[in-house]
Amino acid sequence: MANSSIELKGDAADCTSAKVALSGLTLAEMITFVNSLGLPTFRARQIHKWIYDKYASSFEEMTDLSVSVRSLLEEKAQVGLLKLSHLQVSRDGTRKYLFELPDGQRVESVLMSFSDRKTLSACVSSQVGCAVGCTFCATGYLGFKRNLTSQEIVDQIMCIQRESGKRVGNIVYMGQGEPLLNTEAVIESVHTVINSVKIGARHITLSTSGIIPGIKRLEEENLPLTLALSLHSPDPKTREEIVPITKKYPLSELIPALRDYADATGRRVTIEYVLLSGVTDSPAQAKALSDLVRDIHCNVNLIPFNPTFDNEGHEIYHRPPREAQDAFKRIVERSGRTVTIRLERGTDIDAACGQLHNKFSAADD
Ligand code: SAH
Ligand code: SF4
Repeated sequence: MANSSIELKGDAADCTSAKVALSGLTLAEMITFVNSLGLPTFRARQIHKWIYDKYASSFEEMTDLSVSVRSLLEEKAQVGLLKLSHLQVSRDGTRKYLFELPDGQRVESVLMSFSDRKTLSACVSSQVGCAVGCTFCATGYLGFKRNLTSQEIVDQIMCIQRESGKRVGNIVYMGQGEPLLNTEAVIESVHTVINSVKIGARHITLSTSGIIPGIKRLEEENLPLTLALSLHSPDPKTREEIVPITKKYPLSELIPALRDYADATGRRVTIEYVLLSGVTDSPAQAKALSDLVRDIHCNVNLIPFNPTFDNEGHEIYHRPPREAQDAFKRIVERSGRTVTIRLERGTDIDAACGQLHNKFSAADD
């Protein structure tokens, strides 16, 4: 199948509405809302079920609501919060969504399927842009615009389920933004994912560039999700260059914080490591990484660099060849840890985080 790209216009692109959006809200929030309309609490339970279990996209579909309740809801509320403004479908089945938020900002989410797994994975954004500014990341080049609300995070998943008609089984917080610089909304969204979307914490992964207070806060929450640290280099100087927040949260404090997290929660963490040719892929770094991960309760995930461009359109990094990736992996495996090389999805549709957003922002400007 050739990849396809669908631009949505008209109603689907219209995001101006004073109505209250319900998808992405918790049951308690829905109860407050229906009660404010003078409706009894059981109506909220019915609506919650239609939205989260049946992926309803209109009140018309909610056939166990009376006609008068449906027309009241149509007047005062709407199902979805986000509007789908663009969808790309890759040859490998990956679907990449660009969503418009109520204030006109846009974020992206990705739906991935893997042939060796039954469940689908959705990658969600937690912020518009990102303040961390990693030098290899398309989102980093956007700069920071704003935090997403919990509802905006959860509705990405629900929009994906409504659009695809498929159930998502895993959530990764690896889209645009740094989740632990928006910690409270992200934690709230995790609870809604567990309680309303009904995806267990064990099927949720949250990736961070290493925000120590956020890691501590997440540790207090004691959720059995998987924490992934974007380490990218065991060498403080190299890491400072490519992940600038290292200056604020140095490796000498970050690694103990990660170890504490793994010990306190009893959960194996993931170490993510982007392979940038000539920058992070030397045998010496592989050896240092192997030594570092030996005494952390973790798995290691090597990410071959997905080409991105800086603001002048220059490609500043390159992906190492496959043999170099394998050689790096073999050295890290000496640690006794499980080491995987991330399977690429949707490379034909700009699937690296920030790429679709940047393409359409550039076209709009
Ligand atoms: N801000 C968080 C989560 C979003 S980024 C974080 O940095 O962890 C998710 C992952 O994709 C991170 O490991 C990030 O370093 C990686 N990434 C970003 N741009 C990439 C690119 N062009 N190629 C490969 N990996 C990239
Ligand atoms: Fe932000 Fe993560 Fe991109 Fe770094 S890699 S700029 S932390 S989104």
